[in-house]
Amino acid sequence: MQVEVSRRKFLQGTVAMSVVGSTALSVTNLLGNEHESHGVAKSVTTKTGTGEATEVATLCEMCVNKCAAIARVENGVVTKLNPNPMFPKSKNMLCPRGNAGIQALYDPDRLKSPMIRIGKKGEGKFKKVTWEEAYEAILNGTDKFTGMAKILDEEKDNRSAFLFCAGEGMAEHTFKTFYSAFGSSNWLNHASLCLQTVISGYGVTIGGYASADLENAEYIIMAGANRAEAIVTPDTMDIFKRTKGRGAKLICIDPRFTNTAAKSDKWLAINPGTDLAFVLALTYVVITEELYNKEYVAENFNGFEEYKKSVIDNKYTPEWAEKITAIKAKDIYKIARDFMAHAPKAVYYPGRRSTFSNNDFQLRRAMAIFQGLGGGIDTKGGLVFGKKLKLGKHAGLEPLYERAEARAVEKIKHPEKGHSGYSDCAVVSGGGSWIGWRNRFLEDRMPYKVRGMFVYKHNPMMNMPNRAKTAKMLEKMELVVTIDTMPSDTVMYADVVLPEATYLERTDPVKTFGGIEPSIAQRNKVVEPMFETKPVMAIMKGLTEKISKPIFEITKKYDEDVQDEITDSSEAEVYAEFDLTKPFEHSQEKVNEEMVKSVYGEEAVKTLKEHGVFYPNMEKYYTSISVNEHQYYPEKEKYYSVNGGKPKTKNKKVECNIPNLSTKGVDPMPIWRESYNFKVPDGKFRLLTGRHAQFTQSGTSNNAMLRDLIMENYIWINRRVANKKSIKFGDMIEVSSRVGKTRLKAYPTEKVGPNTVFFVHGFGEESEALTWAYKNGGNDNAVIEDIIEPVYGAASMHETNVEIRKV
Ligand code: SF4
Repeated sequence: MQVEVSRRKFLQGTVAMSVVGSTALSVTNLLGNEHESHGVAKSVTTKTGTGEATEVATLCEMCVNKCAAIARVENGVVTKLNPNPMFPKSKNMLCPRGNAGIQALYDPDRLKSPMIRIGKKGEGKFKKVTWEEAYEAILNGTDKFTGMAKILDEEKDNRSAFLFCAGEGMAEHTFKTFYSAFGSSNWLNHASLCLQTVISGYGVTIGGYASADLENAEYIIMAGANRAEAIVTPDTMDIFKRTKGRGAKLICIDPRFTNTAAKSDKWLAINPGTDLAFVLALTYVVITEELYNKEYVAENFNGFEEYKKSVIDNKYTPEWAEKITAIKAKDIYKIARDFMAHAPKAVYYPGRRSTFSNNDFQLRRAMAIFQGLGGGIDTKGGLVFGKKLKLGKHAGLEPLYERAEARAVEKIKHPEKGHSGYSDCAVVSGGGSWIGWRNRFLEDRMPYKVRGMFVYKHNPMMNMPNRAKTAKMLEKMELVVTIDTMPSDTVMYADVVLPEATYLERTDPVKTFGGIEPSIAQRNKVVEPMFETKPVMAIMKGLTEKISKPIFEITKKYDEDVQDEITDSSEAEVYAEFDLTKPFEHSQEKVNEEMVKSVYGEEAVKTLKEHGVFYPNMEKYYTSISVNEHQYYPEKEKYYSVNGGKPKTKNKKVECNIPNLSTKGVDPMPIWRESYNFKVPDGKFRLLTGRHAQFTQSGTSNNAMLRDLIMENYIWINRRVANKKSIKFGDMIEVSSRVGKTRLKAYPTEKVGPNTVFFVHGFGEESEALTWAYKNGGNDNAVIEDIIEPVYGAASMHETNVEIRKV
């Protein structure tokens, strides 16, 4: 990235406190007086080796889990992050990434001031500007890009001419408030690149994406979830800390020999994308051998007889599944029998990550039904819905824009019977289909013009399959505004860059965390925002103060109802309904206070500031048993069951057969189709991606502390295949598919089969402004094809075949 000021000058005042190995980087002025700490929550004052320190309770943002942390602050500098034992979700755990969160704050490459583009799109040439100049550029553009006012005027106040998209985060809600008030119908979030089919599959089948009570389960099938490396709290802790000792069995189903596989009682390598066949065969055994909980099924299932008939008539036997999955029939028989012997204290782990394959929605339905056959729903040791503590409401603003077009989806004019009526997928969910949307935009298949976009804490250049197309989309947009902490690959395509404060510099919306031991937690500001960065609430306040009135003038020009209302009352009264500044008039701290105080009183507000965590009776219930054991709720107060052991669907039944799905062209029951078979043409390999325990996708790619643990990603190639191709450890490999190429080093291993290759997602950024992440390995989304899962339009991440060659 180039900025008008020289890089050296630009970094002046940087608090570069990172430690790379044993080399401390230069510290310009750790005690800079520009970082006074008023308004920062303080809990405890302790003595440390270096002097007085305060401790502030906060929540980690190094991944999506939001573990509770306590930041130690000495003279305005965060010197250590420790786990906060009081949060039931993270149970006194802070993983390596959480510990390295300090570097997110002190990363010298951080975005430090607002910038506007002065070079070609994607070139990374920016000019440092004031916040006012940045807001002005968004509203009125520059000689390089079109402003919002011109776009809205030319589109006759169609607010949907702007797309809003966001990654996961506690402040996503604040940004979404801006989107709602602005009045666009085009919202895309991370769901279709992540959990969409899992949540929806479980949602329609048992009424919710339930958690697994791994602490009490006796038998666990973990398929496609690598909890030892893709950390999710409290599951990761419960599974490795609390199962083995008491004899619980862990069965790992994965095409790769992962660290989870290494820790399990049995690992079964499965062909990618064939888990549905495995579950159908388990179901076949349980039904034909009548191992299921008959009473539970009779009382709590809808459509069981039809499903039973389908499973039997289709002959989904273990022998049938063996040919598809590569898992031996005898293992399938044994797992089915063992699972039911332990049910209801048996869990088919729902998984928590991207959509793997085109049959993912049906896979999750089949898993949820199988779980129900043992009665392990809403019960101790099974899948649990848990309780969610209430929070007060914060009033938003959702004015009606007469001329805002409906969501940009492509409808088919005369759909055949049994077709959803949409071109990309059967159901258009709240988070949309990112790939579908992008591709329609590029192919001019939009029902109206979308010309600008706002991107919050999101890096589609790294996170969405077919990177080349994402670059084209960003190039084609006339106005791209990004709000981020780091100069990511997506930021390089921005017209206006708004630097957000990191999670240690802001208070985020208070959040309720449901579960067996529910609680409310708050990310408290630890230190004041550095440089010219701001929390998103303040960014939204400044932006809306700038744009609200001018764009209301455009609404007035085109909206006849508004014109009539002004004639009937007054302009000031009508404007009040369209005043975009309203949702952002109070600070986040104030909003949080109201949301908590209105339900739990003043004490709860204080507790959240001091401890970061609150739940009713916490002072009575919470006990530290030992350093690593804590009681949050007494056993009899835990919410193992909140629905009388029943599913949470509308009918309180496990929905095996949903005829309504067939009206959208979706199988009403999970069945296997020929097209789901695992096939890899000769000379090609199925590309698998995954996570690493010391690295969270592209979000932590520039973290110098974590880079010490994993500097770059390597491609796993089956050792025999590698030998045949004379590929040795560390050789540079080019991986190519129909959509692109990437390069990374080889890791020959027996841990992956001969027709698959694997590498960790999130590496290989191309933003030169990222000192450590720049080209640090291969980017999976440069080669993953944009294959759309047919039900919710999610990205099917494991359907791409690639070629490899030594270079
Ligand atoms: S799992 Fe690790 S990175 Fe994620 S929130 Fe918890 S401590 Fe932070």
